Amino acid sequence: VEDYLAQIEKYAHLNAFNEVFADEALIAAKKVDNKIKNSTAGKLAGMVIGIKDNICYKGHEVTASSKILTGFKSIFSSTVVERLLAEDAVIIGRCNCDEFAMGATNESSYFGPVKNFADETRVSGGSSGGSAVAVQAGMCHAALGTDTGGSVRQPAAFCGVVGLKPTYGSISRHGIIAYASSFDQVGPVTKSVEDAALLLEVLAGPDDYDSTLSQTPPPASYTNFQKPGKKKIAYLQEAISSPGVDTEVKDNLITYIEKLRKEGHTVTPIAFELLDYLVPTYYILAMAEASSNLARYDGVHYGYRSPQAVDLQSTYKKSRSEGFGKEVKRRIMTGTFVLSAGYYDAYYAKAQKVRRLIRQKTNEILAEYDFILVPTAPEPAFNIGREEKDPVVMYLSDIFTVQASLTGVPAISVPTGNNSKGLPLGLQLLTKHFGEQQLLDFAKYFL
Ligand code: GLN
Repeated sequence: VEDYLAQIEKYAHLNAFNEVFADEALIAAKKVDNKIKNSTAGKLAGMVIGIKDNICYKGHEVTASSKILTGFKSIFSSTVVERLLAEDAVIIGRCNCDEFAMGATNESSYFGPVKNFADETRVSGGSSGGSAVAVQAGMCHAALGTDTGGSVRQPAAFCGVVGLKPTYGSISRHGIIAYASSFDQVGPVTKSVEDAALLLEVLAGPDDYDSTLSQTPPPASYTNFQKPGKKKIAYLQEAISSPGVDTEVKDNLITYIEKLRKEGHTVTPIAFELLDYLVPTYYILAMAEASSNLARYDGVHYGYRSPQAVDLQSTYKKSRSEGFGKEVKRRIMTGTFVLSAGYYDAYYAKAQKVRRLIRQKTNEILAEYDFILVPTAPEPAFNIGREEKDPVVMYLSDIFTVQASLTGVPAISVPTGNNSKGLPLGLQLLTKHFGEQQLLDFAKYFL
């Protein structure tokens, strides 16, 4: 813990943490040391973990990197925090993120962007940018993020670490600040596939507080790795043919395709005819759900209340106007619009139908192939400040991550070297619902 705290201090300018629990972590570490001596320590003894600042931890502030939640303290812990602590993990602090996890660059945070450790002029990715940089820069051993449309996988790829989004329904969302409830999943950000497996093992499984969880208990272990035999892998041919994908990202994919073929796997290009609908469908649904989820921040129940408020109306209006940032407001307005009586059928209901088709088509592919292989993001980490001009550019960069989110299948982003500028590149592997073990096995041995 001392080493990590020193590292956090040394690289404080990267802005990876919204708060560091220094004293508390040292005390917790001492207790774990004693348990280790008495051989009563849990599976995560020795693991020092950062948690994204949208994960509730009793008695600690939680802000979702928004002004509207400043000063708000959790009155209970999320299930994931309880499971970490029950296995003797030490929680070292709250990691910076995009405001309410809305973004792919960590620039919408009220506390400012997180800088990429590989190149400080570049974004960390997002929305779990703080979690990714904290692991990348050695400020903690592992971190938790949340992934709604790629927020664990994409920052992991930008920072050269591993990011896992488990199957929707694997890990409890109890105590996670909701963005888009039919997509949100907690996921580990780690240096290795082994650590991702260990954290999944601790976190996954039914919980009375989340009725969307699978009631089938998960396997007792995800850490009994077995070298997989020859697999059938599909890759999206658009990832190579599309002009929107960076050349070095394409080259990286091609290198891995060849490597996998040499190792005896069958790797086949496929066309996914619904590719152009992935991003619009995701954003219509995610914004609709967000507009509803964020209605609770009314200046009364949680956090910030405008000092100018004089009555109920102005409490709502002024607290929300002053408390939410620009990107969050944009999404609340768009989400409210697509849910409004006159446009519901044209946008929200239609997007639900398209989501079903996307799910069907993806499942058909995964019935024929063991995995889908794609780059995690169409380009490596870009310069801080670029997205200011055009949010749609940012939305489109989610093209490869939202398929797993819309479908609910698990996906992992694994670091696969750096480009010519030394920026990390990640590849992503998707598999069938609850196929985490085969995903982890394959990622460990072949990526
Ligand atoms: N970039 C996506 C969005 O802005 C994903 C965010 C996330 O997964 N939390 O919605």
